[in-house]
Amino acid sequence: MAKIEEGGEVHGVYDVVVVGAGIMGSCAAYQIAKRGKTVLLVEQFDFLHRRGSSHGESRTIRVTYPEDYYTRMMKEAYKLWEEAESEAGYMVYQRTGHLDFGSPYNRSLLAVISSLQKEGVPHQILSHKEVAIRFPTLRLPEDSLVIYTSQGGILRASKAVAMFQALAAKHGAVLRDRAKVLRVSPHWRLPDGSDGILVGTGRGSALGKACILAAGAWTPQLVRDISGVELPIKALHTSIAYWAVNKINPDALSPTRGFPSFADYGEPYIYGTPSIEYPGLVKVAVHSGVLCDPNRRSVSPDMEALKGVVSPWLASHFKGSVKWEAPIMAEGCMYSMTPDQDFILDHLPYSSKTEMVGINVLDCKQGFFAQNGRRAGQGRRRETARSQGSLPYLPEEADPDHGISSETEAFVQNGVESLQRDQLGICKSQILVAAGFSGHGFKMGPLVGRVMADLALTGVSQGVPLEMFSIERFTKDAGGNHKLYEVPVKPVPQATIPRTRSS
Ligand SMILES: Cc1cc2nc3c(=O)[nH]c(=O)nc-3n(C[C@H](O)[C@H](O)[C@H](O)COP(=O)(O)OP(=O)(O)OC[C@H]3O[C@@H](n4cnc5c(N)ncnc54)[C@H](O)[C@@H]3O)c2cc1C
Repeated sequence: MAKIEEGGEVHGVYDVVVVGAGIMGSCAAYQIAKRGKTVLLVEQFDFLHRRGSSHGESRTIRVTYPEDYYTRMMKEAYKLWEEAESEAGYMVYQRTGHLDFGSPYNRSLLAVISSLQKEGVPHQILSHKEVAIRFPTLRLPEDSLVIYTSQGGILRASKAVAMFQALAAKHGAVLRDRAKVLRVSPHWRLPDGSDGILVGTGRGSALGKACILAAGAWTPQLVRDISGVELPIKALHTSIAYWAVNKINPDALSPTRGFPSFADYGEPYIYGTPSIEYPGLVKVAVHSGVLCDPNRRSVSPDMEALKGVVSPWLASHFKGSVKWEAPIMAEGCMYSMTPDQDFILDHLPYSSKTEMVGINVLDCKQGFFAQNGRRAGQGRRRETARSQGSLPYLPEEADPDHGISSETEAFVQNGVESLQRDQLGICKSQILVAAGFSGHGFKMGPLVGRVMADLALTGVSQGVPLEMFSIERFTKDAGGNHKLYEVPVKPVPQATIPRTRSS
């Protein structure tokens, strides 16, 4: 069994190198190692740090989605959560049931019902009276449309990430933290003569036949540095909070009393989980965020947004059962939003002619890259400028070459030579992107891990169609996939709450 070695050196040749040890990278590493392939998982901070998107006590898991493809994917994801739990020998998924509610005219909510019907998922539409009997602490407007599914609950987020990392290590994966990836470059010859990817960190370099970028909100920066492609992913700072349940009835919102996780599809979009992780406290938050820079954001929660938006909602929906005036504790987190709030699960497009994809990709793709792609030669010009110290706007930390180890060069001298660039024409690289999970990806982690393992090892996803998750969709429409029921997120100034879809 491989060890999870804190701060160990990065070296070696692998079938796959995975960048980023959040839920997605950890699940991908597990899936790859389980298939008997060699895999390295590299994380810039400490494992289980709290500066990305996957930390914390809980995430909602539910099958209710306006998009039927997510409902379909969730059926598979549930199985994979259960498989991993039984292999690990402990539970991270607690079943509680799930409630979605809102106006009877809400198009997302109506689409949820048709997804459930289409996919044959058991569900109940509850009347106002039934809600009052089953969930007496919850007050909803009389005309609310309420959907109940038993396939809901919470995932213990940080525990789940740790579980997948431990499982990956058990199957032989090599895990390295505190190793920021500074360079990912294609066209390196592997010892067996095949084409490979060099992944350089401040503490050594490794080679992979494939490389998965699962770097959360940092992914666009990595992709830009590798290829010049500008992924339309925006980082949003968001906050969750725990509120005290009334002392007279502290169990009222616990799963033992049948209280479910829930989402209010109104304006603002509010979601919550029952009292599980902290007895007597219930998690309720607003599904929104403020644009941020992942490298410079304060990780503190936004208390103003919580008190300004969640407090009044609690006062009207849980009056008497929850102390709504202020949360007992709160925490900051980060979303990575795509314009259509769909994931990106794809090969990074590139040309084999040069290291820079920007201009060459224009030959096989249009529009999006034409506007955003970096021009061939620009990378070299930037290298020169940087070596002359003329890029003052690039902070040390963000400079992809800063701190690159001399091992990278040593690698070259020790027999791993850069490939000659050949003719133009390759439009799919062995560099893969798993990003843009838009505030609702955690529940799909094990399935995303499986899809990425499929793509990295075989080039094809088994059983999960990926058209909706392609990078190419943004070449057709900058807004991505069209949705009749969805308002795409428009990141807005502080104090204003953008509407995103359910968590
Ligand atoms: C408050 C909040 C509530 C949410 N609620 C839900 C929910 O109820 N249900 C649900 O399904 N989803 C939910 N989500 C969304 C879900 O948590 C995310 O979609 C998911 O965690 C994204 O995981 P990730 O692995 O892509 O990103 P991350 O967890 O951010 O992982 C990326 C990792 O890559 C590392 N990295 C970045 N750059 C480099 C580099 N250069 N070198 C090495 N490592 C690097 C980062 O340090 C990080 O650890 C929520 C998210 C938040 C923030």
